[in-house]
Parts: sequence; C-alpha cells; structure tokens
Amino acid sequence: MTTIPHLTMNDGRTIPQLGFGVFQIPQDETQVAVTTALQAGYRLIDTAQGYQNEEGVGAAIAASDLPRDELFITTKLANRDQGYDKTMAAFDASMTKLGIDVLDLFLVHWPLPMFDQYVDTWRAFEKLQADGRILSIGVSNFESEHFERLSAETSVVPAVNQIELHPQFPQAELRAYHEAHGILTESWGPLGQGKGILENEHIKSVAQAKGKTPAQVVLRWHVQLGLLVIPKSVTPARIAENIDVFDFELDDDDLATIAKVDTGVRVGADPRTFDRR
Ligand code: NAD
Repeated sequence: MTTIPHLTMNDGRTIPQLGFGVFQIPQDETQVAVTTALQAGYRLIDTAQGYQNEEGVGAAIAASDLPRDELFITTKLANRDQGYDKTMAAFDASMTKLGIDVLDLFLVHWPLPMFDQYVDTWRAFEKLQADGRILSIGVSNFESEHFERLSAETSVVPAVNQIELHPQFPQAELRAYHEAHGILTESWGPLGQGKGILENEHIKSVAQAKGKTPAQVVLRWHVQLGLLVIPKSVTPARIAENIDVFDFELDDDDLATIAKVDTGVRVGADPRTFDRR
C-alpha cells in the first residue's frame, strides 16, 4: 500500500501530505467513500460543518480498525457560526457528529471580512487548542491582509491555509506569503473540480509522456510544489488512482508545460467578496 509523506506544521505536529476530501458527498454515501479511502491508504479526511456529512465521516472512523492516532481528521467551522461563543458550541456539535474526543485540525472556513468576526473566531480556536481539544488550528480562504490582522491581534499563527489552488490558478503570491510566515498551503479543488483542467491539452500531453493519468500528473504537481492536497472522488478506482502518485517525478520540462495551464482564473469564489453564511 502507498505510504504518504508527512509535512511538519509550525506547531511541530505532522500532517499527511495527501488526503481525502468529502465536499459534495451526500451524507448517506460518505461512510462508504471514506471507508474505501482508508482501505486505499488515505489517512487524512477533510470535511466541514457545511458539507453536512460529518456523521458519515464519524461512522467510517468508528467502523475502521485503524488506531485513532493514525488518522488525521480535519473539519471546518460553518460560516454562520463565526464569533467566540458560537464557535465553541459549533465545535462541540462537530465532535459529537464525528464521534471523536480530540480533533486533529480545525479550520475557519472563510474569512468573511464584511462581517468582521474572524478575529473573535480565532480567539476561540486558540482557546480550544490551549484546552487540548484541537491539536492544530488553521484557516481556509484567507488572504494576506487577514493574516496580518490575526498577527496584530492574536497569538497563534495558523498552521495551514486551505485555498483554491490548481495549475490554472497556482497562487504563487499567496504561497510565497505562506512560506515567509511558516504556514502550510493546502490545495482545495486540486483537480479543478472537474471543470476542464484534466482535459487540458498540456496536462494530457504530460500524462501521455509519463504513462500516468491527467489526475495523477496534476496531483504529483501539487506534491512536488510541497503542498498539502485533498482530492475528492466517490469512484473506488479513482480514489485508488489519486493516491498512487508517489512512484514518478515530473521534470523541469514537465513543470514548464504544466505552467502553461495558468490563466489566473479561479473556478470558485473570491474570498475577499464571498459572503454566504
Ligand atoms: P477536486 O478538484 O478534488 O475535484 C473533484 C472532482 O474531480 C470529482 O467530483 C470528479 O468529478 C473529478 N475527479 C476526481 N478524481 C478524478 C480522476 N482520477 N479522474 C478524473 N476525474 C476525477 O474538487 P473538490 O472536491 O472541490 O476539492 C477537493 C476537496 O477540497 C473537497 O472535497 C473539500 O474537502 C475541499 N474543499 C474545500 C473548500 C474550501 O473552501 N475550503 C472548497 C472546495 C473544496
């Protein structure tokens, strides 16, 4: 079975570099999908309160024979539950649904700067970490100005920022900011959410030359950039394919070809204006 490398976070803990995302997997299909992923060798599961499938993830954890400390569970605070007190209550609800005592990583899902609650929310995250209820704390969809505010008004630097990132939108500037501040970058929508990147001619040409699939080439690109990556699929063959990316290398020519896919265009929402709660 594939062994997944780990990266070290700024709190000294380690995190599997490749994990399994469960966005848009219906609750009643989630246990089977996560169980399939665990059997294929995935150890990090990425869910969110907003995905409404934490119970399915919890059922797969409960049904698994794997020791709890071999699993890495990430969930994210629902946008409507930002603010100190609501964060505390929402965290408890997640833990009940997941059926676990300690969470590996909790993320603020979106900064929602127009509501100005993410600093108070972060203070709740710091408290939950200090109390030992969460091992690592991070954010998602944050831009540099949001980190600057946290840095001015709170104590703990987020361990991770989970952001939209794929060859079409490679986020060079934000990655450089993360690197300068000791924050790991985690790619969401790493395959471009099925919106054309895997059919791109440059990706297909590298895949053909390497004898790999377009998805494997794109996931290998994330791995070689030193990113955390959490592809999603419910198809067992693709779940297995997406983790099988540790036996080949992209060379400089391959990377130059993949760089041609960059259009600077997102497939998802802009965190500076996204306001859905
Ligand atoms: P993704 O880029 O992982 O794409 C998933 C889609 O790609 C699948 O539905 C399928 O259509 C296709 N696919 C998967 N494997 C394939 C393969 N081997 N061959 C061909 N097609 C394949 O998109 P995603 O699910 O949006 O992102 C991954 C994870 O990131 C999510 O499940 C979730 O955990 C996280 N996420 C987080 C945020 C956030 O705001 N923090 C937003 C979106 C997603």
